[in-house]
This record gives sequence, C-alpha cells and structure tokens, in this order.
Amino acid sequence: RAKELGGRRVEVFAAHMHADVVRRLELAADLQRALLDGQFAVEYQPVVDLATSRVTAVEALVRWWRGSAFVPPQQFLGAAEDTGLIVPLSEWILREACREVAAWRASSWDVGLSLNLSCRQITAPRFVETVQAALAESGLPPGVLTLEVIEEMLVEDAEEVIRRLSELRALGVRLAIDDFGTGYASLALLRQLPVDMIKIDPSFVAGLGRDETLTLLTRTIVRLGHDLGLVVVAEGIERPEQLELLREMGCTRGQGYLVARPMAARGVDSLMRTSCAPLQNTA
Ligand code: C2E
Ligand code: MG
Ligand code: MG
Ligand code: MG
Repeated sequence: RAKELGGRRVEVFAAHMHADVVRRLELAADLQRALLDGQFAVEYQPVVDLATSRVTAVEALVRWWRGSAFVPPQQFLGAAEDTGLIVPLSEWILREACREVAAWRASSWDVGLSLNLSCRQITAPRFVETVQAALAESGLPPGVLTLEVIEEMLVEDAEEVIRRLSELRALGVRLAIDDFGTGYASLALLRQLPVDMIKIDPSFVAGLGRDETLTLLTRTIVRLGHDLGLVVVAEGIERPEQLELLREMGCTRGQGYLVARPMAARGVDSLMRTSCAPLQNTA
C-alpha cells in the first residue's frame, strides 16, 4: 500500500514537473519568436540630479508585450539567460538605447545612458567588442555610458567578468553597482571592480523617514559612496519625504516613480523639451 501511495506521489510530482518544463519550453520558443518579430521595446527611466532636479541620465529597461499582455522583465529574463537568448536580446537593447540616446544628445541634451548587464552577456564572446561597436556606430562618447552590474554576476567566472568590465572601464565606460546593499558582498565588490557609481537598493529608500535603521543605513551608504568618490544614486523614490531626506543627506542622484516612471522614447522626447540641460561644449 505504501508503495502504491509512493508511486502515486511520484506521478503527481512528475505531472507538475512536466507542466513546468512545458511552460519553460513555450516561454523559450515565444522569446525567440518575440525577438524575430520585434516584440521587445526599450523604455527609459529618468535619473535626476537631486540638487538641481535636472535629468542627467536615463536607465534603459527592456519591455516585452506578449500579444497584448505585458510581461515584466523578471518573468522572462531568467529564461532568456538559460536559453542564451539574452545575448542577442541584450545586444539589440544596447544598440537601440545607444542610438536613441545619441539622437537626444544630438539635440543638445547632455544626457547619459545606464544599461543593465546580464551575466551571460558579459561572458559571451566579443562582449567588449560589441559594446565598442555600439558606441562607435551611434557616436556616443564612452563616458556617457554606464553599465550596471549586480553582485550575482561575479558568482561564476568572476575573474573573466572583472577583466572584461575593467577593459571597458579603461576605454572610458562607467561602471555602477546596482541594488547596492542587498548582497552579501556589496562592500567586497567595491574593491574588486573599478566602480564609478553605486545605486542604493529601493529596500533602503522605502524605509526613509519611517524606519530608523533603514534611514541610518541609507545615510551611511551615501557617506561611504562619497568618501570613496563615487556618484550615489537612490532608487525607488516614491514619497516626497524620501526625496527631502536624500537631498538633506547629500545623495547625488535619484530615480523613482515620484520623479518619473519608465517611459517610451517618445515620452523622453517631450521630457527633453521641458527639462533640457544644454551640452557644455557642442562639438
Ligand atoms: P533594476 O535595474 O534595479 O531596475 C529598476 C526597477 O525598478 C525597474 O523595474 C523599474 O521600473 C522599477 N522602479 C523604478 N522606480 C520605481 C519606484 O519608484 N518604485 C518601484 N516599486 N519600482 C520602481 P523593471 O523594469 O521591472 O526591471 C526589473 C529588473 O529587471 C531591473 O532592476 C533589472 O535588474 C532587470 N532588467 C530590466 N531591464 C533589463 C535589461 O534591459 N537587461 C537586463 N539584463 N536586465 C534588465
Ligand atoms: Mg538597474
Ligand atoms: Mg536596482
Ligand atoms: Mg533590481
């Protein structure tokens, strides 16, 4: 009888596994088709200078409309990474974003571009060359591009990842640590990578003014960043009180729904006309 029950349990388990495998395979096939059909889009979330409220950069965020349903990045990036599709997808995002930001800069707007990297993308053959080519084709100066990395990217093949990112850094591209403060090795990362910027994770910003410990931790991260000569960006600003506290702490930049939501390129076009910061020297 026990055997019978056990057998049935295995069957139930296998059925779940099966459904999961099928779902993943479907997702993988859909992703492939989506890339070919041009179903992906890039949205841009403005990053402002907290002292002047000017938009200094935009962060590119990938968007997928699967038919009429929006699929959040975190629901497909894992599958894209597993299937390797993240490599051509990321290359498309990189080129698209460089091209659009170059166009904004051509209208005399001194705006930077932040781009999220994926692990597989960094270790793919010719990653450094691909970034260089995208910069060359768009005419973007390397210093305008910031590549955002998270600590999970250094779990496997850390040496290779560090070598490649350092190579790009040497060319003038900037590096940022995204989701700073959430990992176990946030501080160690600062020693391993030649970083220019840290982005304070929204989980700290959420507690500003409401939670003493989180407020203190945010203040400490801002000070640490400044002591190391880094640009400090606070992410996930949703309430005016958070904005005020971050300004008072001297945090350099901010990003969040209160400031601006991620928007399509057309939205950035109209934003540019209202908050245009002229280029210092238009070459
Ligand atoms: P991230 O790089 O930390 O991006 C910030 C995320 O927070 C974005 O979510 C953004 O829409 C959201 N956000 C911005 N302001 C607020 C706010 O005030 N409140 C709240 N609750 N959320 C806010 P999104 O677009 O869903 O992206 C999630 C993550 O997916 C990103 O986190 C990034 O790790 C990854 N991702 C997004 N686009 C790309 C991409 O093009 N390539 C790669 N490799 N990863 C990407
Ligand atoms: Mg990011
Ligand atoms: Mg983040
Ligand atoms: Mg994140």
